[in-house]
Amino acid sequence: MTNGTDLNNIFDNNLDERMAQAIHEDRKRRTQRDRRRRKKAARRKVALAIFALAAAFCLCVGLAKILHSDVFDDEKEFQEFADDAFAAQSVCPETDTDQREYHFSEGTSYAVMRGDWINGDTKSLLDEKIDDIIKKQTKGKDAAMALLIDAAAYEYENGTISTVVHYTTYNPDGRHMKIADAQVQTNLFDKATGKGVDSLQVLNVNYKTKAQEYAEKYFSKTYNKKQRSEDWERFVTSDDTNFNKFVITKDEIAFFFDDGTVLKEGEGTPAMGVPLRIIGSTIRPAVLERYIDKNKPMVALTYDDGPYSKTEGKIVDALAKNGCVATFFYLGNRVKDDHKSAVKAVKIGCELGNHSWNHPVMSQLETKEIISQISKTNAVIYKYCGVEPVVARAPYGEYNDKVLKRTGMAQIMWSLDTEDWKTRDADATVKAIKNTKNLDGKIVLMHSIYDSTAEATETILPWLKENGYQTVTVSELIKYRTGKPPQPGKVYKKVK
Ligand code: ZN
Repeated sequence: MTNGTDLNNIFDNNLDERMAQAIHEDRKRRTQRDRRRRKKAARRKVALAIFALAAAFCLCVGLAKILHSDVFDDEKEFQEFADDAFAAQSVCPETDTDQREYHFSEGTSYAVMRGDWINGDTKSLLDEKIDDIIKKQTKGKDAAMALLIDAAAYEYENGTISTVVHYTTYNPDGRHMKIADAQVQTNLFDKATGKGVDSLQVLNVNYKTKAQEYAEKYFSKTYNKKQRSEDWERFVTSDDTNFNKFVITKDEIAFFFDDGTVLKEGEGTPAMGVPLRIIGSTIRPAVLERYIDKNKPMVALTYDDGPYSKTEGKIVDALAKNGCVATFFYLGNRVKDDHKSAVKAVKIGCELGNHSWNHPVMSQLETKEIISQISKTNAVIYKYCGVEPVVARAPYGEYNDKVLKRTGMAQIMWSLDTEDWKTRDADATVKAIKNTKNLDGKIVLMHSIYDSTAEATETILPWLKENGYQTVTVSELIKYRTGKPPQPGKVYKKVK
């Protein structure tokens, strides 16, 4: 039995050991489980605490928002309101320095933010305007509770100084200050003379086409439907009435829009900065002295087949001497080697147009060739003369629907052919112009590659002036007579 007992003992011992192990493992599992549970509970507590804190925070922020008021009661609160409002409503593009003044008052409190002033004249002019606004807006029954003015002046490398003065008035509406009125004024000066100039003495007429393209995208992206007025697109077309308020900085042209135009009334006066890489090619290399009187007769002289400095140089000199301008339709393949007269022409305010790369009959070309003739020529003119043509003249006046569509520019024909290419005679060319009864609105066809035409130009320019005609570029003629810059795909023969 010993063996049996022993065996039993061994068996029992084994059993005990196994049980002990099982109990131990069970305990271990339980402790682990407990630990996990405790951890889980602890985590839950932390999460709950965080949640409670977050909820309390949100509630506080929400309450603060509801309870917050930007209606000010003292100087410090006015200053806070003014700084926030300047951040939201100032239209002046950034300047190197800005000075701020705050005037708290029981009547109208006002603050002024001044950007850089360029020179003495600009400074006194802007100071005067600011004083004027303060005088008018702080007195009388209708004076608002707050008036904020921001103003700045900018100088561009072509000699243009542009200024902007902007003000916004506010009245309390419940706990918040609401815009009562907003106005923006701009002015342009020639730095050399200190005289005020018109926008078209600084930019060529096609700047509005670029501005329109940009504005359509800008306003639909930047503002939502609630902010935009219902007919906002009407205020961003290239018509006479739009894009007339702007300043030119070293990076952009900033356009300003009146309250209640692009945006709904009470949204203030929005500003839109168009980068110079997009619109810079429409800035004139120098401020034009010439001013166009839209009520006086105007004629557009045009010269094809250049550039050709030998004879065209004489034409450009005559234009400069007489304070006149013309439009030159260029062949792209001539531009790289001979653009001296072209660069000078741009400088005095002339327009450059596209006359194809090498004078083919465009209407007989494949689509691909039409596009190449036009785009190569535009590119080489831009490269060597710094301007982007927007008008084209198909060689021999040969165009069809395909040419119109693929050229993608305004197609300029003529209403007076001097036949200078046929006669090659200065007197005959002069006669062709002088014998035309009424030149107002006419587009005159000549060629800049003949000495006889250069000679005729020297005679015809003083005669035009004596007879009350002002010379304009083709784009200017179209702009002044139709109210819009040249439209791509459209044909212009006579512009009356
Ligand atoms: Zn030609």
